Amino acid sequence: MELVDIQDLKSWGSNAVPVQLRPRVHTLIDAHCHLDMVLERGLGVEEITQTLEKNGVGTIVEIGADKQAMLWARTLAHTSQKFGVYYTIGHHPGEAATEDFEFGLQFIEENKDDARFVAVGEIGLDYHYHSNQAEIQKKVFIEFIRAAKKVKRGVAIHTREAHKDTREILGCEANGIPILIHCFTGNKSEMEDFLSLGAYISFSGIVTFKNAALVQEAAKFCPLERILVETDAPFLAPVPYRGKVNQPGYVKHTLDFLAQLRGESVEKLASACVANTQKFYNF
Ligand SMILES: [Zn+2]
Repeated sequence: MELVDIQDLKSWGSNAVPVQLRPRVHTLIDAHCHLDMVLERGLGVEEITQTLEKNGVGTIVEIGADKQAMLWARTLAHTSQKFGVYYTIGHHPGEAATEDFEFGLQFIEENKDDARFVAVGEIGLDYHYHSNQAEIQKKVFIEFIRAAKKVKRGVAIHTREAHKDTREILGCEANGIPILIHCFTGNKSEMEDFLSLGAYISFSGIVTFKNAALVQEAAKFCPLERILVETDAPFLAPVPYRGKVNQPGYVKHTLDFLAQLRGESVEKLASACVANTQKFYNF
């Protein structure tokens, strides 16, 4: 991965002045994005910030799920002035077998007193692309849940075609800490299974796709006090931008879609999502 220099973000923030912690209760939050990869795909800072402003998104959670991403995310979180930025530290299950996960564990420990470091993630299991690496994925997953417990953070979970093992490991290891199922792609009964663990459920642009009937069915029944929205940008842009590079401001389109699907006002759903995001990440 080629890393975008943080200096490219001049209009995003100023030079290394730590921002005050200021929860933005009146604006939307993108609960999960990879802004570094959005920039790598050629979207400019100006375009991204304009869309954030236009769509009323004031805060993002930047995911640091590999070595470069976590270093970048931490710097961004401490230099951004225009928008609130928080970050996570984790190890993507797709890289369980190829990347050194000890670095992430150390980084968690090193940053445990940083109020902008708000969760361990994304971590989890992915048997869609990496089914032959189940054992190493499980090992890394468990190590990171234990690290999260130690530093008193919640866990943001990536799970794909691995419901049973994910559920089992969370049930054994993650008791007592907040759980967020990021980019939920399961059906209603899988959702209920996670809800029974006390988990929050985060919906991405996938829920807006025509062929996502099962995810839509789940979203309809997700309790208001457990639902979140995210982009997972640059991936999975919601309709009407499906297939394009996703960006954090597009979280508004997923929110609008969900409100209509659930028969709720956008305002009501937005304030629930913001409150749930702040509750899970504790900011
Ligand atoms: Zn992600």
